[in-house]
This record gives sequence, structure tokens and C-alpha cells, in this order.
Amino acid sequence: MYPQGSRIGILGGGQLAKFLSIAASKLGYRTHIFTNQKDSPAIAVSESYTIASYLNYAALKNFSNSVDLVTYEFENIPSETLDFLVQQLPIYPDRKALLVSQDRMTEKKFLNSLGIETVDFASVNSLGDYNDAISKIGYPAILKTRTLGYDGKGQIHINKQTKETKIFDHLEIGPCILERKVQFDKEISVIICRSNNGTVMGFDPGENVHSNGILRETTVPAKISNDLKLSAISVAGRLVNSLNYVGVMGVEFFVLKSKRLLVNEIAPRVHNSGHWTQNGCMIDQFEQHIRAITDMQLGDGSRHANVRMINLIGDDINHLGEKTMGSSYIYGKQKSTPERKMGHINYVTQYSV
Ligand code: AMP
Repeated sequence: MYPQGSRIGILGGGQLAKFLSIAASKLGYRTHIFTNQKDSPAIAVSESYTIASYLNYAALKNFSNSVDLVTYEFENIPSETLDFLVQQLPIYPDRKALLVSQDRMTEKKFLNSLGIETVDFASVNSLGDYNDAISKIGYPAILKTRTLGYDGKGQIHINKQTKETKIFDHLEIGPCILERKVQFDKEISVIICRSNNGTVMGFDPGENVHSNGILRETTVPAKISNDLKLSAISVAGRLVNSLNYVGVMGVEFFVLKSKRLLVNEIAPRVHNSGHWTQNGCMIDQFEQHIRAITDMQLGDGSRHANVRMINLIGDDINHLGEKTMGSSYIYGKQKSTPERKMGHINYVTQYSV
């Protein structure tokens, strides 16, 4: 176990880093935030911070000299940054998990190699590839960039009427993946944590509502059968074990016909759909992650309440009114843009007795 007072470096300075920093402090650790943005909420709750490009090696050197281990709040970290840091100190979760999740194609192939089902997909790098792919996948479909897409960005929905020029323009962004657009009953996610010694702990699945590709709310318990709940947690467990993973991972699923589970994507970090754990569990996802990466024992993450988590997106933050009756988390970002996550509120709808 890392001794009290050890310093954890966190790449990224958003709300996830902010809650990780608070959890680290609760457990006697200090944090150093490395971010490329001035308006970074995590700075307010960390011992130290660096604002620099992720490719500024002098800044990275100072950062790595000042911390004992590194974690991160987002997966699109430049590989040069990781190449540099990994020579100096441990990074949790490690690069394998990042490599798998940074590219939608690699991710789906990896999942399928473990026997985990995903939507049908095909690689598309040119209009020729697209024509082959759409005849195999069929309509409706979604064309997604393989890398750097999040919150629904880098995706276009495709039906028979979609013009070839639109597809051509999208392919200009970079290599893509064509996915069958499935009709799911609901979306759920499992927040799972694995420690260095192989202990695995999965939080109860949450039921998620997205619009325009952005998570709007998560409710626990998810309205699914007990069997499905156990299957989802066991799929997530297989995933973290197969990667020898250390830390928290978010695993998003589509539920089809109430019983079939397809993994949509994995996030090798704490996850927005796990924010309900802040009020639904004694040990939330952030503390669990800090425990895992510092070699502490994992805590009790069992759920003691039913919770509805609502994201405050863009202008929502200016119309809080009665909403703050729930447990409120305001990120403290100075600028709100239409799709920016500005805060969230957890409503405890019922306590378990
Ligand atoms: P993603 O960024 O890939 O997680 O996509 C964001 C959201 O878009 C998902 O949470 C779903 O609501 C929807 N979506 C993504 N891919 C598919 C798909 N293949 N079929 C149906 N809906 C999808």
C-alpha cells in the first residue's frame, strides 16, 4: 500500500479528476493535476497542478518527479505522453486497457475475442469499404470515427436516404467503423473495480438514458431481471480480469429483448454513469478507484439506496431552482456551452432497510 501522504498524479482536470482528488484526500493522499485547460474544476481541490500541453516534456518531467503514481480521467491521452511517463513511474490502469478502449475497432475485436457480444461492425476507410460494409451490416447503421469520439461526437446515423457526399465527408475525419444500429430496450452500465491482488467488486448496474449521444440520467436499480444483472456484472468481471486491470472501469451495455446483452463500449476510468454511487453506496466509485491504485483493500460498494442521477448539461446550471433539493454536485466550470456537463444531482428515491 502506498503510504499516507503519497502523491497521485491525475491526467485531466475535469469533474472526474475533481472527485478522484477529493477521494484521495479523504484517504490521506495528495494529488497533482496535469491538465491542458485553465478552466479545470479539479484544480480547486488538489494540492498542486500543472497547466500545459500533454506533449510538453519539461512539464511532464516536473509532474512525474512530483508524484508517486499516475492515473487519468480520460482515455484519449496521447501515446507519446504515456510513453514518456511510463518510463518514470507506474500508471494505473495500465496501457493495455487504454490501447483497447481508444479505438472502437480494437475494442470490439477484443470483446469478441473474449466471447463477449457486440453489435455487428465493419471497418470503413474508403467509400469502397463503406459500400461493402453497408451491404453486410444493413440499414439503419451508424458510422463512427474509430478514435477520439465521445458523448456522441464523430458519429452519423445512416439510412437508405443518406447521401454519399455525407459519408464521404465523414470519412475525411479519419478511419471509421460502421455499426448496425440496434433497437435496444434499454441501456445499462456496470461500474467495476479490480485491485492489484485480483479482488473484483462490481457496483449494481445502472439504467442509463442518453440523448444526442450524451448521458442525461442514470437510475438504480436498473429495471432488469436478477439473472441479467448478474450476467452484466460477470461480463464486466471477465473484462477486468482478462486485462489484469487495476482501478475502476465503466462498461456500457445495450439490453435487447430483455435478455440479450451487447457491450457498447468500455471506459478505463471512473464513469459518469457511476455518479449515483456517491449517494447510493458507502464507498463510491471514486474512493474505490483510489483504493485500487494505491493497493488499499477495496471497500464495501453495496448499494444502500435507490438513486436517480441527473446530469446538468449546458444551460441547466442556470435554472437550478428546486432541483438542488437533491444532493448537488456543481463542477465550478466558468464557461457553460450547450453540451458541456456542468454538474449533476443525485436524488435518493428510497433507502434500503
Ligand atoms: P457511443 O458514443 O458509441 O457510446 O454512443 C452514444 C450513444 O448512442 C449510446 O449510448 C446509444 O444511445 C447510441 N448508440 C451508439 N451506438 C449505437 C448502436 N450501434 N445502436 C444503437 N444505438 C447506438
